[in-house]
Amino acid sequence: MSTATPSPKTAKWDYAPAPESFRPEINADHGLYIDGKFVPAKSGRTMNVINPATEEHLTRVAEAGKSDVDRAYKAARKALRGWSRMKASERGKLLFRVARKLQERAREFSVLETLNNGKPIKESRDADIPESAKHFFYHAGWCDKLRYAVAGGHQPGPVGVCGQIIPWNFPLMMAAWKLAPALACGNTCVLKPAETTPLTALRLAELFRDCDFPPGVVNIVTGGPEAGKAIAQHEGFDKIAFTGSTEVGRGIVKGCAGRPVRLTMELGGKGAQLIFADAAIDQAVESAVLGIFYNQGQVCCAGSRLLVEESIAEMFQAKLLHRMASLRMGDPMDKNTDVGAINSAAQLKRIAGYVKIARNEGAVVHECGVGEIPKKGFWCKPTALGGVQPAHVVAREEIFGPVVCLMTFRTVDEAVARANDTPFGLSAGVWTEKSAKMFDVARRLRAGVVWCNGFNLFDAASPFGGMKESGFGREGGRHGLMEYLAH
Ligand code: NAD
Repeated sequence: MSTATPSPKTAKWDYAPAPESFRPEINADHGLYIDGKFVPAKSGRTMNVINPATEEHLTRVAEAGKSDVDRAYKAARKALRGWSRMKASERGKLLFRVARKLQERAREFSVLETLNNGKPIKESRDADIPESAKHFFYHAGWCDKLRYAVAGGHQPGPVGVCGQIIPWNFPLMMAAWKLAPALACGNTCVLKPAETTPLTALRLAELFRDCDFPPGVVNIVTGGPEAGKAIAQHEGFDKIAFTGSTEVGRGIVKGCAGRPVRLTMELGGKGAQLIFADAAIDQAVESAVLGIFYNQGQVCCAGSRLLVEESIAEMFQAKLLHRMASLRMGDPMDKNTDVGAINSAAQLKRIAGYVKIARNEGAVVHECGVGEIPKKGFWCKPTALGGVQPAHVVAREEIFGPVVCLMTFRTVDEAVARANDTPFGLSAGVWTEKSAKMFDVARRLRAGVVWCNGFNLFDAASPFGGMKESGFGREGGRHGLMEYLAH
């Protein structure tokens, strides 16, 4: 059964469009950034890059093959000695420069991120770019204080040459999360952005060059799974840091078995938000919305399972649907837009497939949102699935889209058991006004990150990462630093 939920009755007026007018220049084609220079790929191949909100062609980027990855690796290996022995405060100065430059050019980076990813400009402007700058600031500060990060007070060394593979949902932020700690600890890097979203990583490469980083310290190779495989299977890397799907992560871990390579795996999730009857309900509704519709739900730690105490479930669902009906869809470049485009046709197909499965499993599908959906591009309405049972496919698998499963519980024990009934263990949230219950539940949740009376809250100083099939290792804070230090 499908129910289109009407817009709130009070919404008789509308916002005037508020489009971002700035358009950064985009080169017609981009090379790989290796040894401090942009160079064409030896593979001779290039890839098309589009705007997912319009399907407009943006540019072409080089598609790295095995020999390109090897060239980038060799440049990083050559640069390692000089970079790791550079005076720590000088390394810090260079990282501070990147942070400052990112802030200076924040508007250009935000627009580029939105053009390439499809996320609302208000998100790239207020979160992706400032958070990325914060990671460089935070880690720049660590460079000359690393001996205080480890027990015993000795000066720790770097792991070595790091191969880093990232996804498309937070393209610049994921690059910052990988590069900033690695560089602060004296490592050198070969980073591969996702095939659909290479543009801000390439612009970041320009920043590294303009900030006078020694050649080879940072190398950016664009490409698809083949380039990712070439990094993961290259025998020279001392560390592989991967963020992406559990399936690909599992393959990388298997492939690295038996090799002396350090690994961090930031994988998929199926986060639960637990809403108790004694919660601040209106704030919890906002948190539920933020938890699943932020970045169109394409968030590893999204609160995609909403577990609500049975006594308030009906009222909570009504409030949630009312709030969802006011989410504005449309041009991501409009500053009023809440829900932008899905990143690719393939991802949209995958999400639509899960909604179809939900219908077949007997869920009630509520598709909400206001605003005109553009004729081109990849669009999915904010969707709530009512009547989902824990055994349903949509309650178990990661959808990675703006789709939330509504479920209920009766007791604290049942809430915890249902939240933990998943192979994933990345994020969870607890909403209750009772602190004793909050701490008790938080302690029992099997997730790397648990937010209390809030959701999706981040800080560069706070470690983030998963357990179970959501991976291992941490990014951010002192724990994240340890992943890039030899010890
Ligand atoms: P994906 O695994 O398909 O791709 C991620 C990256 O790996 C891309 O750069 C891709 O080109 C590369 N890749 C693909 N196949 C490869 C292979 N065989 N060997 C090496 N590299 C390969 O994931 P995606 O669709 O880009 O991203 C979505 C997934 O990422 C979701 O599951 C999401 O939960 C997860 N994610 C996790 C975190 C976290 O911190 N835990 C953060 C963001 C996204």
